[in-house]
Amino acid sequence: MTRSETTKKPAGKSIKKEFTFRFYAELNDFLPPRRKQKAFLQSFKTPITVRETIESLGIPLSEVDMILVNETSVDLEHKLKESDYISVFPVFESMDVSATTKVRKTALRTTLFVLDAHLGKLAKYLRMLGFDTLYRSDIDDNEIISVARKEKRIILTRDKPLLKSKEVSHGYFVRSIEKHEQLIEVIKKFDLYSQFKSFTRCMMCNTILINADKDEIQNKVDKDIFRRFNEFFYCKHCDKVFWKGSHFMRMEAYIRELV
Ligand SMILES: [Zn+2]
Repeated sequence: MTRSETTKKPAGKSIKKEFTFRFYAELNDFLPPRRKQKAFLQSFKTPITVRETIESLGIPLSEVDMILVNETSVDLEHKLKESDYISVFPVFESMDVSATTKVRKTALRTTLFVLDAHLGKLAKYLRMLGFDTLYRSDIDDNEIISVARKEKRIILTRDKPLLKSKEVSHGYFVRSIEKHEQLIEVIKKFDLYSQFKSFTRCMMCNTILINADKDEIQNKVDKDIFRRFNEFFYCKHCDKVFWKGSHFMRMEAYIRELV
């Protein structure tokens, strides 16, 4: 009926305007209960960009893949107008948004990872499945961010503030705490099912493994293992031999079941 609330202030000063926001899928994890899974109104002082509103609502930009304003894809610097309807979609939604998104120029689905210092077990499992995964127990936030930028790696972390850094463009907050659940969560989130290359990377150091002839590794494994297995994989860096033992078989069966 009236816009009187916006005309009380003198001209030239910033004016509060109301916008409607709707966040999709796991972006709701960052919202308070009353705002989850539904459209809500929020006023901001204008002029304001999409980036500023999303940040101030507590959503890490690194988890955002596509923004629609009144159903048109926009970039983060898009300036909002009164009564705009803003739909925000997460990174790594199963639907392919690469053709329509304007948030980033390159496709997000890449399988290079860098993990924070709390995710050592997850790092081993990802490497076991063949994913290029950087991890060190003494890695710090600055190093994680710089290697992610330089090598276009996706950051996996249990540390929300890390993802809110402006430097982070590809990041994901791992919700699960248990290591097997973390692996399943990451596989599902990034739709990695078709990309398993088990036993191509060293679980300890991420180096590419070499298929080893049985007689070459005879003196590196114990007799029982040598007798029971025929396929061996060797890491030059660690001077270690790997084989598809019971732990791997259980894990593989567990993952297959979920696919
Ligand atoms: Zn190694």
